[in-house]
Amino acid sequence: MKEEKNKLMWVDGELIPWASATVPIATHALHYASSVFEGIRSYDGYVFKMHEHYQRFHESSRGIGFDLPYSIKELEEATEEVVQRENCNDLYIRSLAWCGSNKMTVASRGIDVHVAIMAWERPLIRNHSAVRLIQSRWRRPDPCTAPVHSKASGLYMISTMSKNEAEIQGYDDALLLDYRGYIAEASSSNFFVVKDSRLITPIPHSCLNGITRLTIIALAKTLGIPVEERDFELKDLEGATEAFLTGTAIEILSIGEIQCNQGRFVFKEEAIINRLKQAFYQLTNQIN
Ligand code: PMP
Repeated sequence: MKEEKNKLMWVDGELIPWASATVPIATHALHYASSVFEGIRSYDGYVFKMHEHYQRFHESSRGIGFDLPYSIKELEEATEEVVQRENCNDLYIRSLAWCGSNKMTVASRGIDVHVAIMAWERPLIRNHSAVRLIQSRWRRPDPCTAPVHSKASGLYMISTMSKNEAEIQGYDDALLLDYRGYIAEASSSNFFVVKDSRLITPIPHSCLNGITRLTIIALAKTLGIPVEERDFELKDLEGATEAFLTGTAIEILSIGEIQCNQGRFVFKEEAIINRLKQAFYQLTNQIN
């Protein structure tokens, strides 16, 4: 990311210029991935689902074995401070916590934990055309192997490799199965289909239980759209009429095509997606 002149980042309780926000090479997180993060959006200065994000931030860090040195309230106040300094409507906020450099052992106990909060403009992509996904050769791990519900940087190695390979093959994103072979999620968003007028999404067994995912499920229920959370295989894509992704950055993004080892599935309809988009956009507008 380009160095942002005149921008300030909140680091360990202080606002400092981006250019001075650096870490020593002997940082534990760089060597052993002892870091967790959050991706949050603000709409016209209002930080959407901030409390839920910081609850997850705390759970993520506990999931990989360390506690954050700031309460949810302190993190919320710091975020407001960062957002207020920015001069644009649609911000993406990145909060990061990592184990520092005062010790270099595999065990992270006793290592200082640092926190940074930064924000940059990230325009909404509400008119984006439907995306094309390809099945990844990588799979989401067994919850006994990795803390799959933590937004732990270490897990993003899987997402990065999957997304790189999808892009090299000319696709927008990758669709990952879980270790059992059921559909899990895309590289950084949750997966939904519409089949027989019902919304179906994988049980968050091995994927992140996204905050947008939960919001969409709640909105669907309000709209009277039946929702099923269940294990879902690639062959079950047969007969699905709509498909889409959800996530903080992308909000709701239609899927036009999935290429996988069961063949190529094309989704042309968007009736239910459009109802959900409308309800979601209304929700993000209402709160302003
Ligand atoms: N899965 C993964 C792997 C992600 O990185 C994200 C983005 N945080 C999501 C799902 C969607 O989560 P949320 O709706 O909370 O942004």
